[in-house]
Amino acid sequence: MNDNIMKKNELTERIDSIQEGWLPEERFREECGVFGVSGVEQAAELVFFGLYSLQHRGQESAGIVSSDGKRVCSYKGLGLVSDVLTSDALRGLSGQLAIGHNRYSTTGRTTLENTQPLLVTYQGGRLAIAHNGNLVNVCELKAKMETQGSIFQTTMDSEIIVHLIARSEASTIEEKLADALSQIRGAYALIAMTETKLIGVSDPFGFRPISIGKLPSGYCLASETCAFDIIGGKYVRPVEAGEMVIVEGESIRYLNALKSTSKAHCIFELIYFSRPDSIVFTESVDKVRRNLGRTLAQEAPAEADIVIAVPDSSNSAALGFAEGSGLPFELGLIRNHYVGRTFIDPVQRVRDQVVKVKFNPVRENLSGKRVVVVDDSIVRGTTSRKLIRLIRDAGAREVHFRVGSPPITNSCFYGIDTPSREELIASSHTVGDISEFLGVDSLAYLSMEGLRSCVKKPDDFCYACFGGCYPVPVDTDGDKLALERNSSRVDPVR
Ligand code: SF4
Repeated sequence: MNDNIMKKNELTERIDSIQEGWLPEERFREECGVFGVSGVEQAAELVFFGLYSLQHRGQESAGIVSSDGKRVCSYKGLGLVSDVLTSDALRGLSGQLAIGHNRYSTTGRTTLENTQPLLVTYQGGRLAIAHNGNLVNVCELKAKMETQGSIFQTTMDSEIIVHLIARSEASTIEEKLADALSQIRGAYALIAMTETKLIGVSDPFGFRPISIGKLPSGYCLASETCAFDIIGGKYVRPVEAGEMVIVEGESIRYLNALKSTSKAHCIFELIYFSRPDSIVFTESVDKVRRNLGRTLAQEAPAEADIVIAVPDSSNSAALGFAEGSGLPFELGLIRNHYVGRTFIDPVQRVRDQVVKVKFNPVRENLSGKRVVVVDDSIVRGTTSRKLIRLIRDAGAREVHFRVGSPPITNSCFYGIDTPSREELIASSHTVGDISEFLGVDSLAYLSMEGLRSCVKKPDDFCYACFGGCYPVPVDTDGDKLALERNSSRVDPVR
């Protein structure tokens, strides 16, 4: 059998295996959203709105912990922010200090005990933490602690942090937290809360975003700045890699808590995860995505009539491509925003309809046209393939697929839910193979140089999923780790 036939058979098997079951989510999945407020009456109400803005970062569970300086209250549940945190729930969360969390599980099952913020009582008092990220040396730490008698109540890697804090012999909570985090490897943007303090920390590489916002009488901390806008907060700056920010009432202090030698911000926050109205790692997300599209238009122009986006995450990049190419931007696909968790386990007859449930083509705009389709990334290629069929069925004469990032060849181990390496189509197939699999007239990805040229400080980013250069060493059997993580996930359709 020659190589081409073999490759074709592999691709056919890929389609068959995927069509037999539920269509896996085509995108990388966001991790979690964290938010905290200090110095404001009924702080929990502001946290509710902050979490609402960060809903795209996690839809499995939501929770808030608040404090009035003496009494600490908590309310958590499985589901969306507006379903879990009702008016009655918020009335019970009094005080000027509150933190909240939206969860999408990258480790641990989706159960009530695995919801955050985690609230514990230890010898230093009450402590709540909300964590976004993934810790890579959890197994060894957990095994060691269990041997020494520790009992874990959840399967979340975040619980390790509270155990390490409780065991620390340092005197203040800031020192205990720094002591605990110095033993951990991995990615985290963390918000912690005692009865009187709000604390934000970024890991030494600054993988996950966390920013500081100013309120008239206090401060807030959030994964993304879009959460400040909704409550009238003013963006101050990001929490730097390895930095700890401590807010008490209306005052704020900054500590260089963890040694940071180089930065590795997640580039995918700018490509796909974060909202375009956010500033992340000091970059405007919308501006970076437009740069991606413009650069892609220069690198890989197409003879075409219109440019369309795969909504919503590719809208800015498609606008950039249209600006860069001089082609008109058109609405080619409409996304249904109300596809919810009812489709997690659909009956057989709707399984093949998933893409049609999520996207509908605008026939009048596509019919007879040579179309450039801009998408932010290709993961397995299965959804892209179905989308292209939809676009062709709507009458497009030619389809030229342009991707606003380089080929994804490796899994992420820093808090992003990704398939195993074998499932990533670009890990084992050339651009030509993928083009044939998708059924397009042409396919081009943004180059690595092109991607780097679109941000202000390219050396401050992690690009590991585009080549496997991991800034923090991962388990040598990393793909096995990814498979284990993913085996416990559910598949909400966003
Ligand atoms: Fe982000 Fe990819 Fe690095 Fe993970 S591997 S942190 S998704 S850039």
